[in-house]
Amino acid sequence: MPQDSGIISVTQPASGEKMNQIVDSLRWTDSVRHAGGQLMMNQDYQGPDLFTWSVIVALAFLAFLISFPIVSGKIRRRRIARQIALEMDLKGKELDITLSGQNSFYRDLSAEYRQRFLWRLLHFMSGKKFEYVGIEAADEIPVLVGAAAIQLTFGLRGYLMEFLDTIYLMHHDYYYGYFQTPFQGHVNSRGIYLSWINFMKGYENYSDAQNVGLHEMAHALAYVNFYGYGVEDEEFKHRFSLFSKIARPVFESMKSGTPYLFDSYAATDYNEFWAVSVETFFEKPQEFYQQLPEYYLAMCSLLNQDPMKKTPILIPAEAG
Ligand SMILES: [Zn+2]
Repeated sequence: MPQDSGIISVTQPASGEKMNQIVDSLRWTDSVRHAGGQLMMNQDYQGPDLFTWSVIVALAFLAFLISFPIVSGKIRRRRIARQIALEMDLKGKELDITLSGQNSFYRDLSAEYRQRFLWRLLHFMSGKKFEYVGIEAADEIPVLVGAAAIQLTFGLRGYLMEFLDTIYLMHHDYYYGYFQTPFQGHVNSRGIYLSWINFMKGYENYSDAQNVGLHEMAHALAYVNFYGYGVEDEEFKHRFSLFSKIARPVFESMKSGTPYLFDSYAATDYNEFWAVSVETFFEKPQEFYQQLPEYYLAMCSLLNQDPMKKTPILIPAEAG
């Protein structure tokens, strides 16, 4: 019978020395098989050495470090989605009544967009702490204040403004730092500050382009994308530089005395120009478009929405 590498034929009784050779031969064949056919000098193969084990453990740890945030992020998102779905069932009707009565933007939305608005609002509110200074806490305050943020970001992917996790509510105008003029609102690294009386006035008259809620949310949106620890919405940040190519010349022109429909406060600095433009965009869109069509359309592209349209979001895919 011809002999191949896998079969050893023994026809004669082997002597002691011959038997040892046969045993060694078998051990060598076994080592070769485990090494995938590669010749190994160590006939007693005992698995990976310490260095190999260290590499395996290091790679496993690295894989864990990479996958942990992804997996935990997915679990967290699912938990939040379940929680919001539950809150939608419990509070959806009540929120719809509050917003229909007091937020003009929400009132004009279709049923489908109202659902989207409420979902985003509950998500936004779940990540915010509301602090009340000289004013009684009330259920409608977080709803209406949060709604101003959701209105502004309705066409954007990023709407949580996570870097700013606290919203401070004062009853009326307040003094801040060394400033001699009272504030209606401001934004800094500690959070978003608003005076409630002025906030309410902003939505009571929704055609005078005076809306401190939208104004401060515009500052907050710029803050979380330009001054926070991370960028909340990369697309928004990218589009903002394109927007500025059209917005800045208008600002410079206003600063040098050209009258526009914007409140004169817009000429203070570019940050204020942006925030005042947002107020005008939502409350006087027709006048804005008539006077500065290119700038109005740049604002539409930046925020991915057009307040003059019945369906405000321009590209649904970009709104997440
Ligand atoms: Zn401002």
